[in-house]
Amino acid sequence: MAAITQEKISIAGALALLLLLISSPLLAQDDVEREKLRELEKQREYQKTRVITARLDSAIELMNLGQYELADVKFRSVLANVKSVPSDLAYHFGKNSYYMEKYKQSVDWLTKYIQLKGTTGQYSSDAAAWLKKAEEGLLQQRQVQSAKAVEVLSRDFTIDCGPTGKVVCPVCNGSTVVIRKTYLGDKYSTCGYCKKTGYLSCDEYNQLIRGQLKATADQH
Ligand SMILES: [Zn+2]
Repeated sequence: MAAITQEKISIAGALALLLLLISSPLLAQDDVEREKLRELEKQREYQKTRVITARLDSAIELMNLGQYELADVKFRSVLANVKSVPSDLAYHFGKNSYYMEKYKQSVDWLTKYIQLKGTTGQYSSDAAAWLKKAEEGLLQQRQVQSAKAVEVLSRDFTIDCGPTGKVVCPVCNGSTVVIRKTYLGDKYSTCGYCKKTGYLSCDEYNQLIRGQLKATADQH
């Protein structure tokens, strides 16, 4: 009985040892696999960074050659493919935006660069100089835009009233009577503009829409 137990124990011990022997190289094998994967991932990342860097370099080159539109395409492709934007890209993209007269965009990215790098970055002084130009450009652009936005209003033109040469008086709608609402009730008075005719001559009409036609005194 004792012998059998001992034998059982030794068998169990042997099995445990065997398992240990088998599993340890297996574990080691797993580690190797994991290490390989990690290495592969690292290479992939490195490769990607290399491609991005090359694209950024070529974008800068295109910009320096004055090919701003093409450079813009490359810069945008870099922007779309990086998890976080390298600060140098902010500078170059901001500068290229200036060349493309996209001043608002330029100000935005150059400001970002300066925020990230302060005054000690490789391009800090350049960025500040370009930012100044971009801000000036933006200001000018806004002035041009607001000048363009001035409305064309009819009062700035002389209106042709047609062959009759007269227009129904817009003040009294031709009724010659003007009704004013007061808290005491409606107050009626003679229209001061159309001389009790209900019409204005074309000249009078044009004066009226410019605010230049004076009402006659006998309104009441
Ligand atoms: Zn009138």
